[in-house]
Amino acid sequence: MAPATKIQVYDTTLRDGCQSEDVSLTLEDKLEIARRLDDLGVDYIEGGWPGSNERDAAFFTHIKRAKLRHARIAAFGATRRAGIKASADRNLMLIVRADTPVACVVGKTWDMHVREALRIPLEENLEVLHDTIAYLKKHVDEVIFDAEHFFDGYHFSPDYALSCLKSVEDAGADLICLCDTNGGRLPHEVEVAIQAARQGLHVPLGIHCHNDSEVAVANTIAAVRNGAVQIQGTINGFGERCGNANLVSIIANLQLKLGYSCVPADRLKMLQETSMLVYELANVAPNPRQAYVGRSAFTHKAGLHVSGIQRNVKTYEHIDPATVGNDRRVVLSELSGRANILYKTREFGLDTDLNRQQVETLLDELKRLEGIGYTFDGADASFELLMLRTLGLATDHFNFVSFRVFDDKWHEDQAPFSEAVVVLEDPNGKRTRTSAIGNGPVNALDSALRHALTPFYPNVARMQLVDYKVRVLDNGAGTGARVRVLIESTDGSRRWGTVGVSANVVEASWQALLDSVEFKLHKDQAKPRKLPATGTDYSGAKGVVKKPRVLNATELHSRISKNAGNGSAPDVRRPKLRRRPGSPAGMRSE
Ligand SMILES: [Zn+2]
Repeated sequence: MAPATKIQVYDTTLRDGCQSEDVSLTLEDKLEIARRLDDLGVDYIEGGWPGSNERDAAFFTHIKRAKLRHARIAAFGATRRAGIKASADRNLMLIVRADTPVACVVGKTWDMHVREALRIPLEENLEVLHDTIAYLKKHVDEVIFDAEHFFDGYHFSPDYALSCLKSVEDAGADLICLCDTNGGRLPHEVEVAIQAARQGLHVPLGIHCHNDSEVAVANTIAAVRNGAVQIQGTINGFGERCGNANLVSIIANLQLKLGYSCVPADRLKMLQETSMLVYELANVAPNPRQAYVGRSAFTHKAGLHVSGIQRNVKTYEHIDPATVGNDRRVVLSELSGRANILYKTREFGLDTDLNRQQVETLLDELKRLEGIGYTFDGADASFELLMLRTLGLATDHFNFVSFRVFDDKWHEDQAPFSEAVVVLEDPNGKRTRTSAIGNGPVNALDSALRHALTPFYPNVARMQLVDYKVRVLDNGAGTGARVRVLIESTDGSRRWGTVGVSANVVEASWQALLDSVEFKLHKDQAKPRKLPATGTDYSGAKGVVKKPRVLNATELHSRISKNAGNGSAPDVRRPKLRRRPGSPAGMRSE
């Protein structure tokens, strides 16, 4: 068998990706992402625009010490200004000074842009292109030209667009990357234009698409099938407006469906973790529906699908999720049948002990909870705990006694604050009482709960809430309506979802918080530390020593129905996410 054709992967997450309005990366973030892209086997990493800001310039200094194993670093910039020599252009000088093995410059190939944006004669733009490339070739090992708006240029003025490319080729560019900068072209148009470009040129071609028509990935694939040898894009499709072509999907498609080689075969399974790392560092919530790597990409819900994949996974999956580092998931819902339950119990390693009666008990409990508003679709962790409790397999970590929350607002112009007091029975059977202040009742309860548990279970301190959603269940019941709270938590290596339901939003949140902490302790197989740290208030202890007990599912959730009618005003604010320093001003995109 002939070896797979190699396609160069050119990542511009650190430059074009940072032009997303909600994405901003620190220098440390950029260095971390670059190292991870190198591990993935990406060929080129565009680090930024040395002429645009100091952080990008600093990146090029620091990345030299990173000792990348494979990827070549590219500095980005634009062609020289009109009316001066390339050697006198400050931005080009900064590219050369960045001292990277690769330079990538963007230039005009659409006559409308030359006339309207640059406002110079068409002939003069050809000189600008030639002069810029020739200058960079003298100082940089490899020079890539990004042909801005090439596909629009070709659509309206094909001869001029092609003459621009010719000028760049003559000047010695190593590769010309054709850009659908406005993201407005469709695959059949890309095919025609790239075929025309190939006919008139000898230089290798690349492709750089934006996603404004939601076909950036399809356009990129069309270009590769018509001879492009380099794909430019960003991880998760980050980028201005609707984003850039998503490299994660492109790599998976080209490598798994079309037999090209983009990254080493053994690295393909790093796609999922690379995607997650970029979301995490950019502080953007991952898209669950993202192809290949999203949380829902291989999730099965309908009973028919679940029984199908139990017979043969290919019945409802286009690839093996493990190939790209993802997992198969089965969610529980009102559609659940025995097949879903059995699949889940197997996933949690409980299949050996489960008899028919236990499956029925679980199903009944699940249906009952769904009847009062629970959903376990985004709350796998709560379901796993529910199963352990129902089957009597839950481990005792602590015991809830009581909580109390106060809300204060002292002046009309002042933000309110909350104080929470939580009383628990600790692992030694003693009562522990902690209090904490927060910007809202849930925040205060979360802090107080952690203060109580951290002395015994230090790992609790590593947990973080990453998402908090409140949904009103009884429309029309006003402030007395029941709400469902979904919480997503992470400890850096895994994410899990938990759920709570009540007419009282604090109670619903508390349920989800407790499950979140319990799940962490359960997964860590946490054993309490012998000596509690100082600073914990044991005022409630008074010699009460009894064996800790975890409420079973029925007890735990029966409180919910008791709370009906307790209609305190819901605080539906989302917790503050980490904030990043402001993003650099994007000067121009290609
Ligand atoms: Zn772009």
